[in-house]
Amino acid sequence: MTTMTKANPISDRISNMKESATIAMAQAARDLASKGVNVINLSVGEPDFDTPDYIKDAAKKALDDGFTGYSPVPGYPALKQAIVDKLKRDNNIEATPDQIVVSTGAKQSIANIVLSLVNPGDEVIIIAPYWVSYNDIVDYAEGDVKIVSGSIDNGFKPTAAEIEAAITDKTKLIMFSSPSNPAGALFSQAELSDFADVLERNKHVFAMSDEIYEYINYVGGHTSLGSFTKVKDQVITINGFAKGYAMTGWRMGYICAPAWLAKATQKIQGQVTSGANSFSQMACVTALEDTENFKKSNKIMSEAFLRRRDLIISLLNEVPNVRTETPEGAFYVFPEVKAYFGKTAPDGTVIKGASELAIYLLNNANVSTVTGEAFGAPDNIRISYAASDENITEAIGRIKEWLAKLA
Ligand code: PMP
Repeated sequence: MTTMTKANPISDRISNMKESATIAMAQAARDLASKGVNVINLSVGEPDFDTPDYIKDAAKKALDDGFTGYSPVPGYPALKQAIVDKLKRDNNIEATPDQIVVSTGAKQSIANIVLSLVNPGDEVIIIAPYWVSYNDIVDYAEGDVKIVSGSIDNGFKPTAAEIEAAITDKTKLIMFSSPSNPAGALFSQAELSDFADVLERNKHVFAMSDEIYEYINYVGGHTSLGSFTKVKDQVITINGFAKGYAMTGWRMGYICAPAWLAKATQKIQGQVTSGANSFSQMACVTALEDTENFKKSNKIMSEAFLRRRDLIISLLNEVPNVRTETPEGAFYVFPEVKAYFGKTAPDGTVIKGASELAIYLLNNANVSTVTGEAFGAPDNIRISYAASDENITEAIGRIKEWLAKLA
């Protein structure tokens, strides 16, 4: 028998990986709630709606029809075709089925793309504030992350010129989401057109456009970067079913990428997970094709989110020294809270930054939020409004009360 020589047998690759901050915060909230504390969880990244019945019924039928075995690695042909049709219909993207790979959530789609494109030392530009996992997936691929930040003053969107200024010979990939998590920022057609011009001038650079919040949009007019045909060979579109269809637990995401890249992602997926869940895939065919039922369920969800967005904004506007931009999509607000940094809590703890503030609010106001540090924006915290109006009102009331106790 060999003896272990290292104190920590875990690989450096995993030891060096950070835990997902959003998942960690949601768990901390659950732990506190399990002790009987009345915690309001506003750290979650999922709609508080159940999956629409027409999709659940399709999954039940798929089970009865025998969709219980392995699927082809990139997904069933019926789903790939439904995605091709959806991309044409909703996104003005012309694609063929060999460009589509279905995965176990958009998270896996993103990891597949990064691991298939990025070599150690390649530069990856991430537009901040960014979704937590981008940074860590690039670290895992040993790429060098370069952050280009938007701020609350420019709607959390850096300009195309700022993005171009960060490009070097070593830049391989640019990653962003629109509507964005955490800020709910939506890149307009004009902004994406400028971005497409940047890509056209920099043919060695790819862009990953994460559009998972496409259907949670309060202003209309979702534009896909992949619709600019002059850069279609440089753009990877990421999407999925978790948010727009309230299907987080079904774990269904997909890419539309140049065929050679889609093929490469199948290699890693084939070795690590194989094809995504078979009956979930068949339910997703119905989710995409039954546009009448989708319109109905989307209307209910969108109206509720819009009402709650306006509610939370009006409540936050009453909290002193908190600055909040009105998001155009997704279901998060991302207030700037830096006026409270350096202040002292009643128990003597100093609130050094957003992470301490989020912990203070969890332990005292019993409201879970997520530190902006996890999203590359340390002056802010993320608050999800995928919660009832009552919980939103109660939570912001508690936040206001406990912020007032910081001196
Ligand atoms: N991209 C963004 C911007 C997200 O917010 C999330 C989920 N929080 C994902 C991707 C991952 O989605 P999925 O649940 O399909 O893996």
